[in-house]
Amino acid sequence: MDRSKDSASLSSFLAGAKHISTVTHGRPDGDAAGSSASMVSYLESCRGKDAVALFPDPVPENAAFVLDGLKYITDRDEAAGRLQSTDLLICLDFNTLSRVEGLVDAVRAYKGPKVLIDHHEEPDTASFDLCISDTRVSSACELLYEVLLGMPDIAGDPSRLPAAAARALMTGMTTDTNNFANSVWPGTLQMASGLLAAGVDREDIIDRLYHSERPNRLAAMGEMLSGRMKILPAGGAVTVLPQSFFDRHGLLDGETEGFVNMPLALKDVRLSILAREDGDFFRVSIRSKRGTSARLLAKNFFHGGGHEQASGGRVLIPQDISCATEAEEYITGITARFLQENTAVKN
Ligand code: 5GP
Ligand code: MN
Repeated sequence: MDRSKDSASLSSFLAGAKHISTVTHGRPDGDAAGSSASMVSYLESCRGKDAVALFPDPVPENAAFVLDGLKYITDRDEAAGRLQSTDLLICLDFNTLSRVEGLVDAVRAYKGPKVLIDHHEEPDTASFDLCISDTRVSSACELLYEVLLGMPDIAGDPSRLPAAAARALMTGMTTDTNNFANSVWPGTLQMASGLLAAGVDREDIIDRLYHSERPNRLAAMGEMLSGRMKILPAGGAVTVLPQSFFDRHGLLDGETEGFVNMPLALKDVRLSILAREDGDFFRVSIRSKRGTSARLLAKNFFHGGGHEQASGGRVLIPQDISCATEAEEYITGITARFLQENTAVKN
């Protein structure tokens, strides 16, 4: 899609800024890392800016390669310090400031201009000086790709993108589409085609993202599938992973990424919900098949939101449950009721 107006608006913000930072959501995923890396790479290589990517949490090991050779900060105090000398903050892959989690106070305290580039519903436009937002794209990377193509120095030619930016864009789009399984739009394939023609090595990206696992992850996946996941009569699958599960398998941050998708392989499952104990609350991930809204379940019952088919939220202690052992019963009850009341909509 032609985003030349958005490109021109972003350009005018870039013109007035020398020290530019990006920031993305907590627990960054491939799209968060990829959009941050590609923005920083473009700003540095094509615009000669001092550009740094700020992350509220470490980037998962399998996606961290996109940041090779680029400046980035994952320490929260250091990131807050960098914000003090930042002239322009580019916010990537989130719709409301609360999603930057551990950096939220520092970002709220930042008084310079903020630009948003994002693909989630209901962006909090009042928090940003420029909002580039579209939900009809696969990923923040796809939107950023189109915005970068509209820049005068790229002039619609993906081969003019710095190699690191091109690789990072392909990476983020690949993880957000679950390797072209979901949210694939015509523009998504046009982007993939443009980046491949520009020389991006997709096989290398796939090897790094999906063929570099530790055995711990597969052992944990085995336990999840053979015993932990509960199938509900109305077409739901509920999986609750307590802290002891992570300890027993020695899992690193992000090593259960993608587990929530697996129950959808079953014909009769139309919604999968997976909760992970995280300190004093549970993080919830929800995925659904077309016709059932993961977003509504997250928004109405789990203090969250997201996309129609991929959303997230939380179960809070003590607001929702009084202790961690009640999580499974609580989530199962809500999910069963939600599915009974929301029969699948035929498309
Ligand atoms: P994941 O399950 O991969 O953590 O998140 C899937 C999607 O759900 C994300 O792309 C994001 O759109 C959304 N999401 C996750 N957690 C939250 C949350 O706490 N609040 C909102 N509004 N969206 C979330
Ligand atoms: Mn995304």
